[in-house]
Amino acid sequence: MTLTEKLTTEFRQRCEGIATEQRGLLNLRAFNPLPADVLAAQLNAKILTPEQIPSLDPCVAVLLDSDQWSAGIINQNPLWIVNNPRHTPARRESNLMHEFGHVLLKHKIVRFDPSTGLPLRRQSDEDEATYLGGCLQIPRRGLLWAVQRQMTQTETAVHFNASEEMVRFRSNVTGVNI
Ligand SMILES: [Zn+2]
Repeated sequence: MTLTEKLTTEFRQRCEGIATEQRGLLNLRAFNPLPADVLAAQLNAKILTPEQIPSLDPCVAVLLDSDQWSAGIINQNPLWIVNNPRHTPARRESNLMHEFGHVLLKHKIVRFDPSTGLPLRRQSDEDEATYLGGCLQIPRRGLLWAVQRQMTQTETAVHFNASEEMVRFRSNVTGVNI
């Protein structure tokens, strides 16, 4: 099942609303890029790399020492998010927006399975965070703006600090052809 089949229309509209609200709090419009670091400051989130966390559980440390992970919330209050510094800048943006998606949707923090060292993620939460993360990066109205300006996928990606893959994903799930 695709993400749009798994998530209700109502939920997806709510995500666009949250994205608009967060931009509004920063006096940004739908067509303005929203850098992850700006949203991090707004949410009082501290973004860390694994090296900045000295007291990391050994099995978590093993997991973090690979390319197989993107980012994760390690503390809720204060909000600390660990991010994989090996990823590209566009990937960093989408990784962090996904985590902010969890925060804004008030998902419960994920625990690590002590036997495998892997995070015990709930797929429905992951799907929701991915969807909201995409809205935060490129709102539907931002995508329409880019279409009106006849921007290419590449130009749109650069404008929103996103990957071209993210532009295509947003185009697919919103039905806005770019
Ligand atoms: Zn997640």
